[in-house]
This record gives sequence, C-alpha cells and structure tokens, in this order.
Amino acid sequence: MCLLTNTSTGPSHKNKSLICLPMKTPGVHVTKKIDKMGMKSSDTAQIFFEDVRVPSKNLIGEEGMGFIYQMLQFQEERMWGVANVLTPMESIIQETIDYTRQRKIFNQPLLNNQIVHYKLAELSTEVELLRSLLHRTVALYIDGNDVTKFASMAKLKAGRLARELSDSCLQFWGGMGFTNEVSVSRFYRDSRLLSIGAGADEVMLSIICKFMGTLPSRK
Ligand SMILES: Cc1cc2nc3c(=O)[nH]c(=O)nc-3n(C[C@H](O)[C@H](O)[C@H](O)COP(=O)(O)OP(=O)(O)OC[C@H]3O[C@@H](n4cnc5c(N)ncnc54)[C@H](O)[C@@H]3O)c2cc1C
Repeated sequence: MCLLTNTSTGPSHKNKSLICLPMKTPGVHVTKKIDKMGMKSSDTAQIFFEDVRVPSKNLIGEEGMGFIYQMLQFQEERMWGVANVLTPMESIIQETIDYTRQRKIFNQPLLNNQIVHYKLAELSTEVELLRSLLHRTVALYIDGNDVTKFASMAKLKAGRLARELSDSCLQFWGGMGFTNEVSVSRFYRDSRLLSIGAGADEVMLSIICKFMGTLPSRK
C-alpha cells in the first residue's frame, strides 16, 4: 500500500510522509473486510500496524512532504475520477434507451413518453458539458497550470451528475431497476462514492470558494 503516516511531531501538514509498504511486512494485520453498499470488487478493510519496520528506501520523495504530495496528487485523482465515470454514464443512458424502447406499456414503447426521452436528452447534454470541462482542465494541466479550481469543479459536478443520472435512469427501469440483475442498479450504488471519495462534495465547494475569495477565514 501507499501509506500516508506521521513520521514526526509538529504541524499536521509538515509531519507526514508517504511510504511504500509491502502488505506482507510483519506487523501488518488486515482485519475482516467491511461490507459496503457498492464498489464490492474493491476490498475495504480495517488495518492495524504493530511495530512495523520498512527500509528507508521505501520512503516516497522527501520525509515530511507526504501531505503536500497527497494534496498535489488529489488533482490527478479528481480528473481521473471524472474521466472514469464518463463511459459508465454513457453506457447507462444507452442501456436505458435500449430497454425503454423494447419495454412496451399499453402497446407503446416506454421510450415514447416525452418525460423519458426528454430526460435522457437532458442527461446526455450534461454528460457532454462535463466532458468539455474535463478536456479544458486536462489541457490546462498539461500546459503546467494549477488546475485545483477546475479539477474540484469537475469532480463536484461528476459526483452530482452521477447521482442524478443513476437515479433517473433506474426509475425508467421500474422494478427491473431495483434488482441486482441490471447494471443501472450497480451504477446507482457504485457511483455514490464519487460525491464522497477523494474529498466530499462539500470539500470541493470549500476549495472553489477559496479560489472565489468567499470562504470565511478561520479565527
Ligand atoms: C470505498 C472507499 C474507498 C476509499 N479509498 C480510499 C483510498 O484508497 N485512499 C484514501 O486515502 N482514502 C480512501 N477513502 C477515504 C475517502 O477519501 C474519505 O471517506 C472521504 O474523503 C471523506 O472523508 P471521511 O470519510 O473522513 O468523511 P468526513 O471527513 O467525516 O466527512 C463526513 C461528511 O461531512 C461533510 N463535510 C466534510 N467536510 C466538510 C466541510 N468542510 N464543510 C461541510 N461539510 C463537510 C461531507 O458531507 C462529508 O461527506 C475511501 C473511502 C471509501 C468509502
């Protein structure tokens, strides 16, 4: 694992280091897996450390810079999070089109209801707007700019859109959408993490406010 840990005392943004920790190192105890509502193919467990020692060559970068590295990598993680959700969003929209086209209610395809095809058109538009913001952010990043504000905006929007899209599409699948037989219900559960992981939506809002000069300073 890539472990962010305290390696000295002092201010919390200067006392941490990143360490590459082989999981088979003596003293690393993985306790039982935690059951989660989604992301079930990625295990989450509580881990205890007991007098664990690693060679100093396992230190990543400089000692005491762990927090800074973590904050820097967050921008890439947030851009990755957005890029990672675009294709599932498109697939869920397409699967919902296919399903509602073949699902007949009173001899009419479900898709023919204006609320269904209009909503899918709206969601598709939102996905394209998100993609454009991501492209802009990545282009700025490749040019060497600080993209903290745009990466935070894109990650915020991706989490919120994933929630809206998965909920709206699941609704159009009716009872089938409530089963674990279809990918829309898995996306509904898995994508919920996007508004929490790599900094919650509220943290993204705080960062954006900092850049807008509207975040009250802590006294
Ligand atoms: C499945 C899963 C996998 C994960 N994988 C990793 C991983 O690989 N590496 C890693 O480092 N972390 C990982 N995490 C941790 C994840 O990044 C944190 O859960 C996330 O950042 C939220 O932190 P927290 O859980 O401590 O929530 P808290 O900090 O306790 O926040 C709880 C809630 O409070 C609200 N909140 C927080 N801050 C503010 C604020 N400033 N203003 C207003 N409201 C606020 C938000 O609604 C937030 O959801 C993972 C989490 C999960 C669930």
